[in-house]
Amino acid sequence: MCGIIGYIGPRSAAPILISGLKRLEYRGYDSAGVALVSRRALRVYKKEGKLAKLQAALPKRLGGKIGIGHTRWATHGAPSDANAHPHVSADGSIAVVHNGIVENATELRERLATEGVTFVSETDTEIIAHLVARADGESLEQRVRGALALVRGTYGIAVVDARAPDRIVVARNGSPVIIGLGEHEMFVASDVAALVRHTRQVVHLDDGEIAVLDTGGFHTTTMDERPIAKSPSTVEWEDGAYERGGHAHYMRKEIFDQPEAVARTLSGRLDHHFHTAHLGGLNLDPRELLDVKRVKLLGCGSAYYAGLAGAHLIESLVRIPASAEPAAEFRYRNPVIERDTLYVAISQSGETIDTLMAVQEVRQSGGRVLGVVNVVGSSIAREVDGGIYMHAGPEVSVASTKAYTCSLVCLALLALHLGRARDLSPEQGRRLIDAMERLPAGIEAALAAESHLEAIARRYADSRSAFYIGRGPGFPIALEGAQKLKEISYIHAEAYPASELKHGPLALIGPDIPTVIALPHDALLDKSIASLEEVRARSGPVIALTHPGDGRIAGRADAIIEVPPSEDVLNPVVMGVPLQLFAYHCALALGRDIDQPRNLAKSVTVE
Ligand code: GLU
Repeated sequence: MCGIIGYIGPRSAAPILISGLKRLEYRGYDSAGVALVSRRALRVYKKEGKLAKLQAALPKRLGGKIGIGHTRWATHGAPSDANAHPHVSADGSIAVVHNGIVENATELRERLATEGVTFVSETDTEIIAHLVARADGESLEQRVRGALALVRGTYGIAVVDARAPDRIVVARNGSPVIIGLGEHEMFVASDVAALVRHTRQVVHLDDGEIAVLDTGGFHTTTMDERPIAKSPSTVEWEDGAYERGGHAHYMRKEIFDQPEAVARTLSGRLDHHFHTAHLGGLNLDPRELLDVKRVKLLGCGSAYYAGLAGAHLIESLVRIPASAEPAAEFRYRNPVIERDTLYVAISQSGETIDTLMAVQEVRQSGGRVLGVVNVVGSSIAREVDGGIYMHAGPEVSVASTKAYTCSLVCLALLALHLGRARDLSPEQGRRLIDAMERLPAGIEAALAAESHLEAIARRYADSRSAFYIGRGPGFPIALEGAQKLKEISYIHAEAYPASELKHGPLALIGPDIPTVIALPHDALLDKSIASLEEVRARSGPVIALTHPGDGRIAGRADAIIEVPPSEDVLNPVVMGVPLQLFAYHCALALGRDIDQPRNLAKSVTVE
């Protein structure tokens, strides 16, 4: 959701801002704009809709070596040209781009209105522009500080002043701000994706920090003017990792990235000597591992489903209770935080606001929380007590695929690590490691069946509705499979534990509604086959997702998808892959906007 980019240096800013905004498009947005400072005046262009509309509205020659840009995801006021950022102060001197929400917007707006300020937009952000212009202070940073002292809420902001055309002032409270360091030039963005083309040396601002960027570098202070030394880190991902690489969509690219991504998640983490996992970032010593009595996994959307599969995995292997809960529900139900529970927050971006807030809820009550995160240096990664990076590489498509899979693999590593510190035998550890090392090949085998999956998808893409069912680890497989179908094809899909079918949803089964049934060859297979029979008996088409070798299934299914078997607890990793491809090809057959499905954004940074 929403993006910020800024540039100051010797080059023309406009093309840098536009290419930066293009890199942020994947996050989802409804309008875009830029402001350039040229000859001590602001030039602002903004448009509702896609970036192409903004580009079409820009003059051919656009001067200015300092500028800021924004992709907006509306919270206050509908998407429109007027509500798009940047927002400008009444005197035309200050331009602001802002991610986040000003919580006391109504009060500040009324106050400014009584002081004679006329508003030209309905946004909360415009307030900040007026406050900065009206604040006391010699320098832009002093005035930004003065303005922010009045603001309650979350923000990542970048501010330019036509009268001080030698600097950009940025500030952060709850919404990412990343400074990119160049040679005699500086960048700022809300996401490293917009920076890596220019530099991989970055500095992450922390909450309550303000930075001033000029062509010579940057300096950082707290809100109360204490200087803070910050050292740069190197972004792990290269610019090329953000390319589509010959695939029609990022989603397909990311599905096909999975064998390599999983190999990276595992790389250097498997210990063949002690049959355990090395997880350097956990910050838990052996005694603390033994003190863990329960595990609680928190996430939103697919991350929550990964958590459900992970809970199953952890409980089976570690033999301690493990459960998953949607992060937003958790944080608002005044949860009991226990010292001997290990909380694990899962988020691809590391910026999912509900998950971040859940992390803060746990920490402020004295609990210990780990992160399973893909983006290094992201807010959740910085907030947790320890964690496991996914190393999935950048995920651009809104619908998560490789990050989902890699988060499951991280949870399997955590289970192995916790299990071996307790009662999991070396032999069980060894078997799990073998199975984990076979995952990339298993995923390759699933991917090799793409044309078969495409054919099945074509047969069923016209369905109005679909069921996904499974038992044990098969249920999270069903949940995530249904999620993928909903997100990108807009076909209504519901997931149920197969055992629940006859307690309600069976009433809906008929020839028009296909049922995808996960049939891993585990202890529940016979019972799951009985559920398949219940569907067939009501003339429901059956798509069976299983392993080769059980003669009972082929004759009973309308379509069959086979993947190599794994250890029972790891089956969700490989079995998820064909369902991603199935959803992808349904969406393709229906002509959907696969990488940017309607109404959805990549990282959900507002509540
Ligand atoms: N609250 C601001 C607005 O509605 C910023 C939204 C965003 O983060 O893009 O304009």
